[in-house]
Amino acid sequence: MNIAILPGDGIGPEIMAEAVRVLEVLDIPYESETALVGGAAYAAHGHPLPEATLKLAQRADAVLFGAVGDWKYDTLERSLRPEQAILGLRRSLQLFANFRPAICHPQLTHASSLKPELVAGLDILIVRELTGDIYFGQPRGRRVSPDGAFAGQPEAFDTMRYSRPEIERIAHVAFQAARKRSKRVTSVDKANVLETFQFWRDVVTEVHAEYPDVALDHLYVDNAAMQLVKAPKAFDVIVTGNMFGDILSDEAAMLTGSIGMLPSASLNAENRGLYEPSHGSAPDIAGKNIANPLATILSLAMMLRFSLNQPEAALRIEAAVTQVLESGLRTADIWSEGTQRVGTREMGSAVVAAVKAA
Ligand code: NAD
Repeated sequence: MNIAILPGDGIGPEIMAEAVRVLEVLDIPYESETALVGGAAYAAHGHPLPEATLKLAQRADAVLFGAVGDWKYDTLERSLRPEQAILGLRRSLQLFANFRPAICHPQLTHASSLKPELVAGLDILIVRELTGDIYFGQPRGRRVSPDGAFAGQPEAFDTMRYSRPEIERIAHVAFQAARKRSKRVTSVDKANVLETFQFWRDVVTEVHAEYPDVALDHLYVDNAAMQLVKAPKAFDVIVTGNMFGDILSDEAAMLTGSIGMLPSASLNAENRGLYEPSHGSAPDIAGKNIANPLATILSLAMMLRFSLNQPEAALRIEAAVTQVLESGLRTADIWSEGTQRVGTREMGSAVVAAVKAA
């Protein structure tokens, strides 16, 4: 097993260090190599996704990714911004299916902004298409000026597109995931206004014919956004396009209390994948030993399950995280009265100890 480790920027290196410590105590054979990505790579090599980093990711069975981005890079030309590294990796590794579970751990129901009874036991899976939609349409109006500003230009535009195969393959992924859960899929679109999403609805409905054991319903994205805060437990698997998935998965993440708890996986057709926390690089708390490393540690568990065929190791990590939460340890983002506040490093050490003891 060959793992590419890309810590990135901001809190990325801190949270990655804890995930790597957990990986090291699992007693499974693996090789790993670490490389710069994002702003750190731009600072060192002039590009957020240098050739050597891309090659490393292409060779690997799986990529464990921290986070990228910092406000200090906001004025860079778009192609050099740290976030472009993620788009480049998705494109090059053909990662088309993004899995973002939103699970509310029973110990953390109070951390949600919703009433505990609305979120207790919440377990949603958002399946987001990653390679199409408005992020990869015809860019982007008139070219920006070299300093990155639009310099009084009269308009800018992006175009939304989906191809039939792109929709078919993500629909299959969602229906197959639903078969392992409660056999319900909600497809989210904007078919009432956008041609692209009328097409999406038609194709998802066609694919559904192959899954008679799975229930399918369709929701407009504005209604889905409302229902997610009104009655989130009514959902099971949500499948949607790139942009709606981007927004709804962050909304769902907040239902669970902290974005610092949520892992994600982006997979290609061969189940090779990139695993990263759902949150960004949090420059506001970087270097302070207060970031929550659990989303990255749980992303490692997803990696072991989906790409490295080590389901038992994944379960060990997940059980260790539950045990640590039950023991009352909390990073600042999930802290509440009566629990014990710990830093990034201490949280990592507690998970390492629980994994070792299992
Ligand atoms: P963010 O997710 O980095 O932070 C949002 C808020 O959540 C902040 O208050 C932050 O302190 C907090 N937070 C995030 N992760 C946390 C953790 N593990 N523990 C505790 N608190 C945590 O989003 P943002 O502030 O909008 O973006 C910051 C930078 O990250 C930007 O440059 C953005 O482009 C980038 N970004 C990167 C990714 C990625 O690498 N995949 C994703 C989203 C944003």
